[in-house]
Amino acid sequence: MKSNTREAAGLIFNSRYTCAFTGAGISEESGIPTFRGEDGLWTKYDPELFDISYFTANPAESWKLLKKLFFETFAESRPNEAHYVLARLEQGGLIKALITQNIDNLHFEAGSRNIAEYHGNCRDLVCLRCRKLVRANDKIIGNLPPVCRCGGTLKPDIIFFGEEIPRKAALKAQKTVNKTDLMIIVGTTGEVYPASLLPIEANRRGAKIIEVNTSPSSYTNVITDIFLQGKASTTLKELEDEISILTG
Ligand code: NAD
Repeated sequence: MKSNTREAAGLIFNSRYTCAFTGAGISEESGIPTFRGEDGLWTKYDPELFDISYFTANPAESWKLLKKLFFETFAESRPNEAHYVLARLEQGGLIKALITQNIDNLHFEAGSRNIAEYHGNCRDLVCLRCRKLVRANDKIIGNLPPVCRCGGTLKPDIIFFGEEIPRKAALKAQKTVNKTDLMIIVGTTGEVYPASLLPIEANRRGAKIIEVNTSPSSYTNVITDIFLQGKASTTLKELEDEISILTG
């Protein structure tokens, strides 16, 4: 494993345009449950509760769940070492862009800036009638469902099942995929479509793939060149340490 980490560090050091692609696993050590896996949300909740048709038919009920699962959990969560390593690598010019499926804002809090938030972010709420964005705060989500000044229902600015990927994030992610020659995938099963296609397309265009995960994913035996098995925080820190040997 050590030599794999060294090899991965060498790829990053020599790459022209490294990007990262992250999923729920990177935030697991920040205390945010993943969807799949032993303690994953799918073991307790029906995925249909996260479908846009359920939200529009039952906004108050849906909001109670969203508030408990996302807003209250995120309010208590802080970035972990894995988020910080990716931010430091961006600041040092070794990672050029980050595509995340996460909605918890922890990459931004850690200091990453060139981020495509593929599934949106709970930082903002969007009005279903006038499409205005409103910053989420305790007052606004005190009465459920929260309502816009225009009278429309406010929804977290995240993608529910059955909704399209936000255009701006989709374009940004696509630009990154077109440019990248090395993608670091962290903590995702690769089962959520269409996000799951981004690493596959990057690889098809010639990008090498480094993957960090506690268990093999749908990518591991298909497109991954170097699989670093372990928790995101320790594995990425080891990788950063190997890179600093090369950068001096
Ligand atoms: P997932 O829940 O399907 O899978 C989590 C993956 O992370 C698994 O492959 C697991 O082996 C790995 N993992 C778990 N703990 C890890 C750790 N400490 N270090 C490294 N890897 C670890 O996640 P997904 O593939 O990202 O798909 C879930 C969807 O749900 C995404 O679209 C995402 O938007 C959303 N989601 C987001 C959050 C969040 O914002 N933090 C949380 C739950 C779900």
